[in-house]
Amino acid sequence: MDAARAMGGNVFNRRQWLYSAGMLAGAARLAGSAQNPDSGVHSEPEKSPPKSAPLPLSEYEPKSMLQVTETHVERAHFPAIDIHTHISLSTKSEKGIELAAERQYLGTPEELLAVMDRKNIRAMVNLTGGYDDGLKEAVTKYDNGYPGRFYTFTEPSYSRFKEPNYPQLQADAIERAHRNGAKGLKILKTLGLYLRENITSGTLVKIDDRRFDPMWDACGQLNIPVAIHVSDPVAFFTPTDRFNERYEELSNHPDWSFYDHDFPSNAELLEARNRVFGRHPKTQFIVLHVGNFSEDLGNVSENLNRFPNMTVDIAARIGELGRQPRTARRFFDKYQDRILFGTDATPHGDEFPQQVFGETLYEIYYRFLETDDEYFDYAPAKIPPQGRWKIYGIELPPAILKKIYFENAARLLHLSA
Ligand SMILES: [Zn+2]
Repeated sequence: MDAARAMGGNVFNRRQWLYSAGMLAGAARLAGSAQNPDSGVHSEPEKSPPKSAPLPLSEYEPKSMLQVTETHVERAHFPAIDIHTHISLSTKSEKGIELAAERQYLGTPEELLAVMDRKNIRAMVNLTGGYDDGLKEAVTKYDNGYPGRFYTFTEPSYSRFKEPNYPQLQADAIERAHRNGAKGLKILKTLGLYLRENITSGTLVKIDDRRFDPMWDACGQLNIPVAIHVSDPVAFFTPTDRFNERYEELSNHPDWSFYDHDFPSNAELLEARNRVFGRHPKTQFIVLHVGNFSEDLGNVSENLNRFPNMTVDIAARIGELGRQPRTARRFFDKYQDRILFGTDATPHGDEFPQQVFGETLYEIYYRFLETDDEYFDYAPAKIPPQGRWKIYGIELPPAILKKIYFENAARLLHLSA
């Protein structure tokens, strides 16, 4: 019994339907002329429309025709701490390694405060505050100039890595930085992917290299958190080819690819990182970019279960969280005390639309966290910069929003409400 009969209607098979819809008309005509070359019907040979050249992927900007709710969230529902920003950078770096204490500033406090006030950002945490005089200057200009609005983290001085007493020297530097006002230590992906035995040459130094043990312990003893970035999106460790979901991003930034050469795999990097967490249980680690594995929230959950000294931020990964909104929502429910609001905001960082500091960036984060809007851009850019997909809001309830926006970070930074 065919499907049409089973449905109780007239027998009307697929071929008949195609004929009636005209879709086989062309095929029938071609077949007919092939069988009867002398049919006497004088018709023009079939002309196919001229083929236009394929549209380059970089020029493809499809506009969604979906008519769905668009909620404009002007301000965060609670005053927010942005735990992950880059207001200053080292004035000198080589092969991915910051080599100078001196800072260059990407935005003035006044310029940042104007946006912060409009977007309900209580404070910005500048992770890349450097060390020594660079750190002192950043703390003076921002943290002390505008109390409660800016907090600065220190960073290791890798330029001294070759000195024989580096382990102790680096631990002492943390203590000094803390005295000078640093609220935590920031580790860039330099460790594991750039720092080498001779700083910029030689074999790569592993994340769990023993020479850093005194540094991790110093942070634990001083009770200041370590904001740590290791590895990168997992697609950066696969070939930049037509199967790579971040193909355009990697084509725009070929140096972001860690495929091949002497780079460890994503899994090896995360394992080395985990050994550090296990060895230093009294040190708090804020594992940036959703534990550096936002593509696999199962993996992040396992690690959160394993390491009580681990929290995560969501910076530059709402593109990942928002394309798995149901899994993400369950993740936020379960780990609501261990997720921090962060954006990776970089003033004038126009090269990286997913983290360029400004009102639009914050509004996208708020829309993701607070609404159930569907299918919207995760970055203020014409072409989605990290991959060609869109995101969905997860509509967190106020009790969870309050923790994510403020309370979890305030607890780690020892701030009063
Ligand atoms: Zn960052």
